[in-house]
Amino acid sequence: MAAKPPATPGHGDGNIHVRLQPTRVVDGMIEDGYTGNYEVICPACGDSDRLDYLTAPPEVQAIRSLYGSPRRVQAAAEHHAGYRTQLTRLYGLG
Ligand SMILES: [Zn+2]
Repeated sequence: MAAKPPATPGHGDGNIHVRLQPTRVVDGMIEDGYTGNYEVICPACGDSDRLDYLTAPPEVQAIRSLYGSPRRVQAAAEHHAGYRTQLTRLYGLG
């Protein structure tokens, strides 16, 4: 059975998460602290905590995006996972 596409219920099998964006990731390790932005990590879309933003494929960068607030990134993650919540509605994501 094909994986469910982004923004449909069940996408990501509960593995989508958010994090503070590391300044750099070298050999899977965070270096030089954090940028202050937040990003969405979706393993079902080919992403990994071990990937550096700048070396991630463009389609992965597009999903991560860069958000300036924890509420905004949480809304994006919920939307990507196919949820419709107060936060997704607050940010116009359905
Ligand atoms: Zn995804």
